[in-house]
Amino acid sequence: MSTYVTKPYLPPKEEYLKRVSAIFDRDVLTNQGPEVRDLEERMRSFLGVEHFHYVTNGTVALQIALRALDITEGEIITTPFSYVATTSSILWERCTPVFVDIEPENFTIDPAKIEEAITPRTKAIMPVHVFGYACNVDAIEAVAKKHDLKVIYDAAHAFASRYKGRALSSYGDISTLSFHATKLFHTIEGGACVVRDQDVSDRLELIKRFGHHGDTHYMLGINAKQDEFNAAMGNANMGHLPEIFAERKRLSELYDSLLARKVRRPAPQEGLEYNHAYYPVVFESEKELLAVFDRLKEMDVFPRRYFYPSLNTLPYLKNAASCPASEDIAVRIACLPLFVGLDDDSIYKICGVFK
Ligand SMILES: *Cc1c(COP(=O)(O)O)cnc(C)c1O
Repeated sequence: MSTYVTKPYLPPKEEYLKRVSAIFDRDVLTNQGPEVRDLEERMRSFLGVEHFHYVTNGTVALQIALRALDITEGEIITTPFSYVATTSSILWERCTPVFVDIEPENFTIDPAKIEEAITPRTKAIMPVHVFGYACNVDAIEAVAKKHDLKVIYDAAHAFASRYKGRALSSYGDISTLSFHATKLFHTIEGGACVVRDQDVSDRLELIKRFGHHGDTHYMLGINAKQDEFNAAMGNANMGHLPEIFAERKRLSELYDSLLARKVRRPAPQEGLEYNHAYYPVVFESEKELLAVFDRLKEMDVFPRRYFYPSLNTLPYLKNAASCPASEDIAVRIACLPLFVGLDDDSIYKICGVFK
């Protein structure tokens, strides 16, 4: 059997089907039904936040976050080291991504370089808590405040990481989450916006439901609301969060013990309670990465090149700045398989390939 970098977690079938059966009885399939309301309430309490909006996916979450903050043009400072959706959501909203290079230790945007990239057209900063590691939120907030910029964190990897005593996905004007099947917590497809201010949250609530309330149309909106079946999967999975984390932590620590000093790993961050969303390793060179991939492929193991290529090199971008640290890391980093259900023997096998 092949081993991939991740495998969706599935709750016991009866737990999901019991919820589905109740949906059939109620005949309420969408439009803020009880499963969606229940999930949103549990999330508010789990994350310790006031304004939480469950939406269809993490990409649309980024797009409506920009809209809710009234950003419809201009430059958005962002990181080149992320999944393509971070950049594409900016482009889709007809804004211009401006790339600022990363800190090589934890792959997050380098706050010291943000200020140089600010122009009169800059509207916001969109950093990523990549792999669930914390951006330097204090430095980012300071520069945002000084230049009156909004901050939208793409926290797609950060669900359940905690930083300095609060949910990592609660920083900034808005933090967005992805609950895609491949993420550590999922609702099959899904995403969310965690919003700091009441008025922005009210705008987002309208935007995600066509911009109207009854017959009164307040603003341009879209359909980003999620349905009862996806929420039911989320609610079923929520009950298993503690065991999901415990198992991912155990598997990560097994990797740690077997790979000590054989590969470069992200630096530990003070104040971070890590969610074990990914297990990234940095190789000496791309050549070494490809050699290890070849040997793993013979064993039917398929890690992923996460994230590759560096987004400032996307072919449909014009005049993107070069980002040497991101481009260097992107060609020699990979994520090893990590998911509930991965057996210890596979980890021993995988680690045996590293010299
Ligand atoms: C997965 C992901 C997204 C997109 O989320 P979807 O729910 O798949 O739309 C955005 N940003 C990052 C960093 C991601 O990993």
